[in-house]
Amino acid sequence: MNVLVINCGSSSLKYQVIDSDSEKALAKGLCERIGIDGRLVYQPNGGEKEITECAMPTHTEAVRMVLDALVNPKTGVFKSLDEIDAVGHRLVHGGERFASSTLINEEVIQAVEECSDLAPLHNPANLIGVRACQEVLKDVPMAGVFDTAFHQTMPMEAYLYGVPYEYYEKYKVRKYGFHGTSHSYVSKRAAEMLNKPCESLKTIVCHLGNGASVCAVKNGKSIDTSMGLSPLEGLVMGTRSGDIDPSAVEFLAKKEGLGLEEILNVLNKESGVYGLSGLSSDFRDLDRAAGEGDARAKAARDVFCYRAAKYIGSYVAAMNGVDVICFTAGVGENDGKVREKICSYLGYLGIELDKEANKARGEEVTLSTPDSRVAVLLVPTNEELAICRETVALIKK
Ligand code: AMP
Repeated sequence: MNVLVINCGSSSLKYQVIDSDSEKALAKGLCERIGIDGRLVYQPNGGEKEITECAMPTHTEAVRMVLDALVNPKTGVFKSLDEIDAVGHRLVHGGERFASSTLINEEVIQAVEECSDLAPLHNPANLIGVRACQEVLKDVPMAGVFDTAFHQTMPMEAYLYGVPYEYYEKYKVRKYGFHGTSHSYVSKRAAEMLNKPCESLKTIVCHLGNGASVCAVKNGKSIDTSMGLSPLEGLVMGTRSGDIDPSAVEFLAKKEGLGLEEILNVLNKESGVYGLSGLSSDFRDLDRAAGEGDARAKAARDVFCYRAAKYIGSYVAAMNGVDVICFTAGVGENDGKVREKICSYLGYLGIELDKEANKARGEEVTLSTPDSRVAVLLVPTNEELAICRETVALIKK
C-alpha cells in the first residue's frame, strides 16, 4: 500500500509517501508559508531536493501542489493519484476519547474538534489538513494517529493533578502527554534490538528534540510521561520552560506588566535553552558557544541535562527499576555530549556508557558497554513510519 502521511500545522504541512510493503519513503517534503506566499519542498527518494515558490492561499492548494509533485512526469513517483491507497494524519490531541488510532469520519472529526480546547494551536490546524485532503482525494480512506493516544494507559495516580477533582470532572484537566507515536515506536524498536518481548521490559524513552519529553514504558504500556495537559510541562526544551512553579506566572505578570497570554507566550516561545542562553534553541549553536567560553550557553545545556536526568530517576522509581534507556529525536540522536552528561547522573543504576559507541549519530546503536546493568540505546525515531503502519493496520481490519 502507498500511504501519504500528513503532519499539518497552521502554516505548514509536512508530508511523506511510504510504501508500506518495503517501509521505504518514496518521497517527502513540506509546504511552508501557507496563506502567506507559499513554498513547496519536494524530494523523491534518491533524487534531488526541489524548492518551488508558489502561491498557496489555503491548505487545499498546498495539498494539490504536493499531489501534482507526486505525479509530475519527470520527478514524480506515481503515474496517477489512484496509486495513493490511504492517508495517515498526525493528530495532536485526542483527549480521553481516543486511546488508539482511528479511521477518520465525520463523527471523529467532530470529536477531535471537541478536543480543540485542550490543543488550540494544534487540533484546528490538523483538521484543516484532514479537510484539505478530503476535498482533493475524495474517497481515499484516511486515518488519524494521535500524539496523546499511547499515554491513555497511564494510571490515575500518574495523570491526576493535585487540584480540585471537579476540574478533572468538569474540564478534563489532567496529564495527557505527547510524542506518543514516537515513544511507542522507539520502545518497540528497543525491544526488537534487545531481542526481548516489549511486554517484559521496563523502558525509559528520552525524546529530546526541539520539543522534548521522557516516557516510562512498563511492559509495553506508557505509565507516565513528562508532558502534561499541554506540551509545556516537563523537561526544559528548545524554547519551552517545562516545569516551573505556577506562582511564577503571577509574579512575572506583575513585575513585567504582562497579561496571562503574554506570559504563556514567553514560557512557550522565549524560554527553555533559548531563553536561558539568550542565544539559540539549537544545541549545535549552544555547544559551539559553550566551547568558546559562553557561560550561559553551557548553563542552558547543563540545566537541560539535569532536568532530563531527574525525570529518568523519577521513572525508575515509578517502575521500580529500568532495563533500557533510549535516546531519540534531534538532540537525542545527534548530541553525544548531551547523552553523556545525562548518563553521568545515572551511575547509581550501574550504567556504563561506551564512549566510542556514543560517537554515533542517527543510527540504531547500543551505547552502553556489555557490563552496563541497564542497556542504553540510540534509536532514531520514525513517526511517519509509525503513522503509516497504524493506517495500514486500520484499513486492513
Ligand atoms: P527535532 O525537534 O527532533 O527535529 O530536533 C531539532 C533539534 O535537534 C534542533 O533544534 C537541534 O537542537 C538538535 N539537533 C539537530 N541536529 C543536531 C546535531 N547534529 N547536533 C546536536 N543537536 C542537533
